[in-house]
Amino acid sequence: MRILTGIFTGKLHRSSFRKNALNKKCSPSITVKTKETEADDRSFILKIDAKNHIKFFNQSWLDFAKENMGVDFAEIYIDQPLKKFIANPETWHIYEIAINQVRAETTGKIIWSFRCDSPECRRYMRMQITKDAEDFIEFKSHIEKQEARDPVLILNSQVSRTEEHLTICGWCKKVQLNADQWVEIEVAVEQLQLFDQTQLPQLTHSICPHCHQEVLKEIESRPAE
Ligand SMILES: [Zn+2]
Repeated sequence: MRILTGIFTGKLHRSSFRKNALNKKCSPSITVKTKETEADDRSFILKIDAKNHIKFFNQSWLDFAKENMGVDFAEIYIDQPLKKFIANPETWHIYEIAINQVRAETTGKIIWSFRCDSPECRRYMRMQITKDAEDFIEFKSHIEKQEARDPVLILNSQVSRTEEHLTICGWCKKVQLNADQWVEIEVAVEQLQLFDQTQLPQLTHSICPHCHQEVLKEIESRPAE
């Protein structure tokens, strides 16, 4: 169960969307690679308590999770530890630093950018981490920009996988080709020739060196409010 990461740092997404939310999504039939789509102005909110257990999410957060994964998680998340859903240790480490800083009020607010793509849509998102009046830590995300693209099969969570693993950055969605080369997923698909549905590797989420540096810089640079 690592679904929550998807809402935070963009794990695999299924392309099935709810009918009544279709007008807010990228159309799978669009083939223009960088066409901007209709704005989606929802705020996705989730809160955790002092033990980092999930205590609240709003309807938009739940809808977004359902749109991306095609499953209703209304009963699953409440009271579960946040860490349970962020499987990658490096990713969790970043979250832990941010949560602790906001909780200790050494940092009033942390904002970072991330991608939460679907196979046929690049989603550029922003997340704000703050502390609310009840001392809960609040994660509030919104979509800044969406671009339709040709569907990227490897991002479709419904297709079967080989035993091979490919590392993808949970923040920028770049894929690691070798020790120091991270590229956009379309480039990786081209270079690794991942067109054949029977040869798709599993995706392991991590954080690339560039995002690691940028996110830590953002956490450390925020003045106390
Ligand atoms: Zn990255």
